[in-house]
Amino acid sequence: MAYLTLRGINKIYPNGFHAVHDFNMEIEKGEFIVFVGSSGCGKSTTLRMIAGLENISKGEFYIDGEKANDKGPRERGVAMVFQSYALYPHMTVYDNLAFGLTLQGVDDDVIEQRVQSTAKILGLTDYLDRLPRELSGGQRQRVAVGRAIIRKVDIFLMDEPLSNLDAKQRVTMRSEITQIHRETGATTIYVTHDQTEAMTMADRIVVMKDGYIQQIGTPYELYFNPVNMFVAGFIGEPPMNFIESTIRKGKLDLKENKIDLSLVADQSVLDRYEGKEVIFGFRPEAVKVLTGGETAGREYFVHCFVNLVELLGDNTNVYVNFDGVNSILKVDPHQSPDVGSGFEFAIPFDSVYLFDKNTEKRIKLREE
Ligand code: ADP
Repeated sequence: MAYLTLRGINKIYPNGFHAVHDFNMEIEKGEFIVFVGSSGCGKSTTLRMIAGLENISKGEFYIDGEKANDKGPRERGVAMVFQSYALYPHMTVYDNLAFGLTLQGVDDDVIEQRVQSTAKILGLTDYLDRLPRELSGGQRQRVAVGRAIIRKVDIFLMDEPLSNLDAKQRVTMRSEITQIHRETGATTIYVTHDQTEAMTMADRIVVMKDGYIQQIGTPYELYFNPVNMFVAGFIGEPPMNFIESTIRKGKLDLKENKIDLSLVADQSVLDRYEGKEVIFGFRPEAVKVLTGGETAGREYFVHCFVNLVELLGDNTNVYVNFDGVNSILKVDPHQSPDVGSGFEFAIPFDSVYLFDKNTEKRIKLREE
């Protein structure tokens, strides 16, 4: 059995709302797991059931092979970091860090040693005498993380810990938390609605929607092998382009039928979907701008018109229209086209995704 096992976990709140459906997952010791999804999809509820702050309505939860459904938060050996820093405002950073250990009756010299080493890891050594209100948001959040790691528990649970920070602080704290995880080796479950946080921090990501797991996988698997439109659209920024079309004689027939996209796929797949409506998807960053004179290799050439250009520095988002549909392309800023102009781009065959329009499930172009 894995280190943490969630088997058929459900949460039905007292008002009857079914917030989490049949959550199944095995988590290995030391893994960094991220629960990601839009607000209200059940991430915090699941985390709180793991923490012991919310009872499990149905299903079994094991820690290191032992059933933990009925264990209280303290017995589970978890430390939790919340979105609000929840620091004691009248206590110094030192006392905030030391508080939990003092309550446990840990010796003063051990506390001193642990506060100093925790402060060092988090760059708080020079701030130990300050009160929370004398710190920046980032520093306060570091104290909150420090209060969790000072307890040397085996399991860290973090619920949107960076959402009160500005964009720059978030990027810094992101890498700090990853580094702390590497140093402590604690099994970590981290909740966020931010796909970039999920992609950059996780060993494995759990994508959730409406209380159901959509997919569990490494960032690489989710990006390249999404199981459905929801995951494909959630992971990646800007999101994947989705275009309604129909498969006719092995070709993708877009709305106004002006471009010829012969599908490169197994015949059995083409036969199965002949005449059916599908969703054609490609990522904004998968395209190549054509400068003229190229001949098509393993790629589709598409002519489009530019509606809007957003220069971001490292790349440019180009909002285009082709064949009656709108899409976003992410291109090299030096290749930015002008608004109102027409240009040609290429979509490599291996960057094309297809989804069943009814089930929204991914259609594999090749049988494996
Ligand atoms: P997330 O963390 O993904 O934003 P939550 O787990 O907080 O989502 O909430 C999942 C769903 O459960 C939401 O629709 C929310 O409104 C609902 N919910 C949360 N807490 C309660 C509660 N105490 N009683 C009833 N419904 C709740």
